[in-house]
Amino acid sequence: MRGRELRGELDAFLAENEQDLVAFRRDLHRHPELAFAEYRTTQRIAERLTAAGLVPSVLPRGTGLICDVGSGDGPTIALRADIDALPLQDEKDVSYRSTDHGACHACGHDVHTTILLGTSVFLAQQAAAGLLPGRVRLIFQPAEELPGGALEVMAHGGISGVDRIFGLHCDPRVDVGQIGLKSGPITSACDKLSIRVKGPGGHTARPHLTADLVFALAKILTELPAALSRRVDPRSSLSLVWGKVEAGTAANAIPDDGLAEGTVRCLDENAWHAAPDLIKALLESVAGAYGVEATMDYTRGVPPVVNDESSVDMFAEAAERALGPGSVVPTQQSLGGEDFAWYLESIPGAFARLGTRTPGGTTYDIHQGTFDVDEQAIGMGVRLMAATALTSLWDSPIPTLDQITNALT
Ligand SMILES: [Zn+2]
Ligand SMILES: [Zn+2]
Repeated sequence: MRGRELRGELDAFLAENEQDLVAFRRDLHRHPELAFAEYRTTQRIAERLTAAGLVPSVLPRGTGLICDVGSGDGPTIALRADIDALPLQDEKDVSYRSTDHGACHACGHDVHTTILLGTSVFLAQQAAAGLLPGRVRLIFQPAEELPGGALEVMAHGGISGVDRIFGLHCDPRVDVGQIGLKSGPITSACDKLSIRVKGPGGHTARPHLTADLVFALAKILTELPAALSRRVDPRSSLSLVWGKVEAGTAANAIPDDGLAEGTVRCLDENAWHAAPDLIKALLESVAGAYGVEATMDYTRGVPPVVNDESSVDMFAEAAERALGPGSVVPTQQSLGGEDFAWYLESIPGAFARLGTRTPGGTTYDIHQGTFDVDEQAIGMGVRLMAATALTSLWDSPIPTLDQITNALT
């Protein structure tokens, strides 16, 4: 079964199941759950997978699950959806508005979850009909927003034995029916930096007898971003921006303690890996020049999502097959972060942007209480993910007997 037949099968599957999938999404939307608290969501997904004849395995914390479809012969492809909501209030006036004032599916993870559920049921039917030439691992990942859920999945063997992984995210700036694709980096790294400066303190009349801590802190605030812009390749767009500064209590007293906090964003993976050591060295040299002691607390966020070119090609081929010609549009690297990046540090794969805007309709933004999608995106997402899994299995070389024997020994 290829191309045209797949499209027909997807049409038939969605004619029967699309309404039910929309209802499933609305139920999740009414009952959003925050990172690592997605117990109800996990239960709902597990019930549906079990009803489709699959055997889901819930992660040890009780949130998120993994489930394999198909036999162990041939390659293994993973499809990932994130299932958590955000800690903000739903501001929409719709029948499926969140019933929890402190949580809202404002990043579209309810849509991602529903798409993967629909894809799972379709692939289970394909496997039962003997049409799945390999194995598909379904990853319903908790806690993307924390972030950390991807690491939790990986710590429990979620991608061991997986050859390639695919994921998608709602994009409210792209019309429904279109898919945004890009090879190479597609999201950015975002880390948090906190710097504490200490000195002896003293009277502002005698800065030469102590260490002028406020002056030194001001130098750190301006010199670090300036020096970084000259030490790092400008194409990596590494930017350090301060969001919080504190020091002192009186106009005529030099304080003994100060604090600066900010974020480090970066488009390039190599520059991201090098950033903490470089910032620490710059900090020590500036602080040392003014006789103050500076310590740094660098909290890693996520690396950029770096799409593998051949996996992007598979996404594009699948989109042409399942959504028709002209469905793929170019997309740009965003300054947002996405923990799918952790998987792609270990195995090849790609992350796509799924159009969710009604053509001619409102352009929403994610992480806003007003965010919503054109629910036709659910069917589009099922078409895309099912076709991508099959395309990837069809295109992956079948392992030789030697490779299978080596893998077993
Ligand atoms: Zn988000
Ligand atoms: Zn998200």
